[in-house]
Amino acid sequence: MTLPRIPHFLNGARHDGHTGRTAPAFHPASGAPAAHVPLADAHDIEAALASAAAAFPAWGERSPLDRARIMFRWRELCLAHADELALLISREHGKVVADARGELQRGLEVVEFACGIPHLMKGEFSDGVSRGIDMHSLRQPLGVVAAITPFNFPAMVPLWMLGPALATGNCVILKPSERDPSAGVRLAELFLEAGAPPGVLNVLHGDAEAVNALCTDPRVQAVSFVGSTPIAQHVYETAARHGKRVQAMGGAKNHLVVLPDADLDMTVESLMGAAYGSAGERCMAISVAVAVGDDTADALVARLADRVRALKVGDSEAPGMDMGPLVTAAHRDKVAGYIGTGVAEGAELVVDGRQHPAAQGPGFFLGGSLFDRVTPGMTIYREEIFGPVLCVVRVATADEALALCDTHQYGNGVAIFTRSGGAAREFAHRVQVGMVGINVPIPVPLAFYSFGGWKGSAFGDHNQHGMDGVRFFTKLKTVTTRWPVGADAASFTMPVLR
Ligand code: NAD
Repeated sequence: MTLPRIPHFLNGARHDGHTGRTAPAFHPASGAPAAHVPLADAHDIEAALASAAAAFPAWGERSPLDRARIMFRWRELCLAHADELALLISREHGKVVADARGELQRGLEVVEFACGIPHLMKGEFSDGVSRGIDMHSLRQPLGVVAAITPFNFPAMVPLWMLGPALATGNCVILKPSERDPSAGVRLAELFLEAGAPPGVLNVLHGDAEAVNALCTDPRVQAVSFVGSTPIAQHVYETAARHGKRVQAMGGAKNHLVVLPDADLDMTVESLMGAAYGSAGERCMAISVAVAVGDDTADALVARLADRVRALKVGDSEAPGMDMGPLVTAAHRDKVAGYIGTGVAEGAELVVDGRQHPAAQGPGFFLGGSLFDRVTPGMTIYREEIFGPVLCVVRVATADEALALCDTHQYGNGVAIFTRSGGAAREFAHRVQVGMVGINVPIPVPLAFYSFGGWKGSAFGDHNQHGMDGVRFFTKLKTVTTRWPVGADAASFTMPVLR
């Protein structure tokens, strides 16, 4: 059977592209190859850049109200096609359909936020800063911008960027993950259907060649990236060296601290969703539970073990599944490799997801795994695994737990579970991590706040969406105006210190 080729979306139409290079996309639940993804060459990259650059002058000059109306229609169309989009996501990524619908919902909340762009782009005005002189500031779009996204949220992460970038008047080249690129193409088609002109949103498939071109071409004014830390760092350094504005979000190792007074039922329930939901392929997944005191750890591990063994792992489209497969065989093997390393380095493997019946079939499945007595020197503690593996680390005090979170190379999200308001407040104030949950396991900021980690989890000065998104995708201009009335003119000599 010949496999379909996933098209680029350039200048308002599907294009097979010029390149002969392709990457395979899979159906992770069966393990079968599903499509060829073209990997853009210089010719395809030029087509995307030329189309976006040509569309910018008119799109950037449209009134914010006009652009907002298109955003409203886009949201409605995405909702009308939610079933189709969720299936596209689930079939290429492997997450269960309910999770795919959930990510679409979160992504569309950013579009809803962007519908308020006439208000969000308003500048400031000062009347009479001197005699006959007023001052105002305004925000203008940057021009052509690049959005480079990871495999784990093929709709939500693009929408984090597309909402503010498009509503503020930029033209975007979206370079989605080559592992699950179809959702990006459909989102762009629906944007066109909502009334956007061709070229305002282009989707270019590719690998390092396309990414490096977008980071260096003088027509690209800004690069928004989400992915793993080594690539985030490479993108940040390359694009910044070429004079671009860059925001580059990277990997994570999110801790959930369990104090002895925590509500254990709520903690276990929260950990099950946060560690194993979407098979752990979330940058805000909890991958480390830090239990304060051996009694806390013993009780936690006993309850978790039963729940992890009972996880329903199977076809992403079957009703009632907790977890689908991992995205590719290579990624499944990498996660399984970490489980082997954990055992070899002396951690106690309480539940082994490699033994799950689903893991024996042709799909890219692993069951949930649970490690106890993980120590900070171990590889499975230091590195991001990005799979359904939870590590329990035992510490004696809350201060030790805080120190673990603070010294880890990543600082994306963190949570504390406790009944003590004082302990929670102190922890939230002191911890060196960008997003903090108090009895909330995955503290993802909603669309009208901004998303971003600290330390090795993010490079650049602006977070995603919320007001930081508006600031990232606009440049600030300040205008000073003089309309003298009669002889009452202002003086423009340097002020004298009085
Ligand atoms: P990845 O870094 O492999 O890929 C991300 C993007 O970079 C893709 O579009 C890919 O094509 C491109 N890319 C890959 N290799 C490249 C190279 N050598 N040069 C240039 N570009 C390259 O990430 P992934 O595996 O798709 O996604 C998972 C990672 O993303 C995890 O580390 C996860 O924590 C992270 N993530 C972070 C956030 C966040 O907001 N911090 C959100 C989601 C995912």
